[in-house]
Amino acid sequence: MIVWGDLTLARLLQYAVLAVAAYILLKIFKRLFFKKKTNLQNTVYFVCRHCGWEGQVSKFGTHCPKCNQPMR
Ligand SMILES: [Zn+2]
Repeated sequence: MIVWGDLTLARLLQYAVLAVAAYILLKIFKRLFFKKKTNLQNTVYFVCRHCGWEGQVSKFGTHCPKCNQPMR
């Protein structure tokens, strides 16, 4: 009974370690995914001085989406 109890405790500890490891891995993956996603959705607020269009455009965009004039 005691041996069985010890085995269960060891098992539980193993599961606990696995759970913590899985949680940490999940957090890392989530962070990586989130970082990638924010990079893809990296937009800036832009007001066009040519046509007055305003809105969110890609940070890497160089032209106004409405009149196609250079942003800078
Ligand atoms: Zn424009």
